[in-house]
This record gives sequence, structure tokens and C-alpha cells, in this order.
Amino acid sequence: EALLKDYGHEDKVLVSIRIRPTDASTIWNHTSKNIKLDPSSGKATQDFTFDEILTGSENKPVYNAVARSHVCAAMDGYNAVIFAYGQTASGKTFTLASIRIYFVLSRILKRLLISFQSGDEDQPGIIPRAMKDIFAYIKRTPSREYLLRCSYLEIYNETIHDLLAHPSTSAAQPVQIHGTGPNVVLTPLREEVVTGLKNVKEVLERGERNRRTASTDWNERSSRSHSVFRVVIESRERGSGTSSEDGTSSGRQTPGFRPPTPGGTRLQARAGKSVQTSVLSLIDLAGSEKATSDKERTREGKYINTSLLTLGTVIGTLAENSAKGKTDHVPFRNSKLTRMLQPSLSGDARISVICTINPSKDAVGESTSTLLFAQRIK
Ligand code: ADP
Ligand code: MG
Repeated sequence: EALLKDYGHEDKVLVSIRIRPTDASTIWNHTSKNIKLDPSSGKATQDFTFDEILTGSENKPVYNAVARSHVCAAMDGYNAVIFAYGQTASGKTFTLASIRIYFVLSRILKRLLISFQSGDEDQPGIIPRAMKDIFAYIKRTPSREYLLRCSYLEIYNETIHDLLAHPSTSAAQPVQIHGTGPNVVLTPLREEVVTGLKNVKEVLERGERNRRTASTDWNERSSRSHSVFRVVIESRERGSGTSSEDGTSSGRQTPGFRPPTPGGTRLQARAGKSVQTSVLSLIDLAGSEKATSDKERTREGKYINTSLLTLGTVIGTLAENSAKGKTDHVPFRNSKLTRMLQPSLSGDARISVICTINPSKDAVGESTSTLLFAQRIK
């Protein structure tokens, strides 16, 4: 408990607002209808209060304010989940992931231009920063040995795709959720052991490549799907092992003390008293905007709305239960995302929701909905 206090925020759910910069002529000065935000106090009119209101294009202060403590908690054995919520183009991906990869030449040129202008290349998002911190933490903790396994998934129309599997395999064999409560298991799911940032980058790039291969309209699909990057963190005191499962004790930073099972999946702790297991999940949610076309309204939109709505209800109930010592029913089972995350959201889990806002005038309606969502889960 003393440990949690050191992480900065004591609330179970940390809710922050991030307002992306925009062309000055279209700015609404953080005032939407009758909601006004004040970044210095973290307050808004209408009694809305958020843990943080962040502005600007620097990703570092965002990471430090709303993600770093959760990454540390995950290293200390707590499950942690960080979400980016907001309408398309409000900055979710900019905030979370900024490792960009390019396959088409024209795209390369365009992207280079854009990144020169916006400085994206200098602004790695939460995922690379978290992984960097994790490896630094491991280095600083020679008394323990660690095993990190990453997986990368996409939930599209309530179907879970393993982005690390070959697209044809993934399409033919979507990931299934088995079990309930803390015993949820995802299968088949690839988990890759990573020992350094280079590995992580490879994993992310492979996931992105598979995602592009799998869909004809990547942009459209990426805004209509949730992407989930997970790191399972296992650790134990060095030298405490007894079984033949023990892998190397070579000089590597994250010696694999258990050989990775190919295609193996484990969401929860495996046997062995001294092994501490936690999961850090970093989630780029589907765009929260209202459906704009008939196609969306009928199918995709329905799924997205249901799953974002369920997420709001789940987090809101968890926060309320935790704050008021209640035990209200939490409807985890109403969506794939919350079902899958149940073990990571329950108990001592640490949750951070970053609600991204595009301050342009055209976006006032959506920005207001985003603020209402943020308020609902706080
Ligand atoms: P989303 O993932 O919510 O659809 P993106 O992260 O792709 O939105 O952001 C849309 C565009 O705005 C991208 O070109 C991105 O680089 C830029 N952008 C978003 N947030 C910021 C920010 N805080 N500072 C600078 N540029 C940003
Ligand atoms: Mg995005």
C-alpha cells in the first residue's frame, strides 16, 4: 500500500484529458458549449474534475503524468491498463504508439514530411517509453530475474485477431476467450519473449504489417477497431529456482527461466510460489465518434458503441465500488474487450484512461461526448 502511494495517484482509476494542438484559427479555447477546461487546476465547469488536463505535443510529460506510475506498478506485480479514448484524429495513436513503419514509397515521403512538421519522430509514445522504462527497471533490479512476453491483438466487430499470427491464420482462427473471472485465457495467442527494445519494435512492426495485409482499408479499420498491446511480466528472486524449467542464467537482462511455449498463452500466474506475474495492457481504442454512414450504423458502429459503452460502465462501476467500498455487479461479460481484460481490471489493478480531444470547432460535439465519458468513469 505504501508502494502505491509512491506512484503518485491513489485513485484506482486515473482519468486525464489530452487536448491536441491545432490550427489557432479553429481552436475553441478548450471551451465546449458550457464546459470549460482549466488545465492548471484540472477542473472544468459543471463540477467536472479530471486528474490531469494535458496540452501540447510533448509526449514525455504525458507519459510521466499518466502512465509512468502504472508501468512501475506493473513491474511491482500489479496489473495495469492504460487506455486512449477519443474520436478519430484526436491523438490516441500519437499518445500511445509512435513507432511508425512505412511500406509504400509515397507514404514514406508523405510521412517524412509530416514527421518533420509535427516532430513525431522525436515524440515516442507511451508504448516505447514504457518498454524503455521496463528494461531500465530490470537492469536496476539485479536481485530478480524477469521474463517478458508481448502479444498484440486487434478487436474488430467483436472478433479478436492475433496481430502476431499470420493474417490468414488469424482470420481463419480468431482468438477465443475461455474461462471466467481471474482465469480468463486467450487461445490461440502468440506471445513473443522480448529481451530488448529492438525485439519490441520488431513485434510491433510485425503486428502492423499483418494488420495492413489483412485489411483492404487499413485507415478505416484502424479507427474502427481496438488494438491491445500486452506485456506479461514474470519475475522471481534470482537463484530461487529448483525445477528443470530453469533456463539460462547467462548475462542476458531478461533470462528466460521458462522456455516460451510456441503459441502458448497464459493470462494469469502460472504455478510456483515465488513467481510474480502481472500484465501491462496498452490499448488504443476504436474512434468514439458517432456512426456517420449506414454501414457503420448497422454493423460496425453498433459493435463499437456497445463495447465503448460497456467499457465506460465497467470502469465507472469499478471506480465507484473502489471509492465507496461497494460490490456492485460489473458487466465484464458484455463485450470482448472487457471480458478479455477482466483479470487486468479487477482487484488491485491500476487503470489510466487518457481521453484525447481535438479542440477544433467542428469537433465540439464529439469533444463534449468525450468529456462526458471521462466524467462518467471518474
Ligand atoms: P487517432 O489515433 O486518435 O485517430 P492520431 O494519433 O492518428 O489520432 O492523430 C491524428 C494526427 O494528429 C496525427 O497526424 C498526429 O501526428 C497528430 N497529433 C495528434 N495529437 C498530437 C499532439 N498532441 N501533438 C502533435 N500532433 C498530434
Ligand atoms: Mg489511431
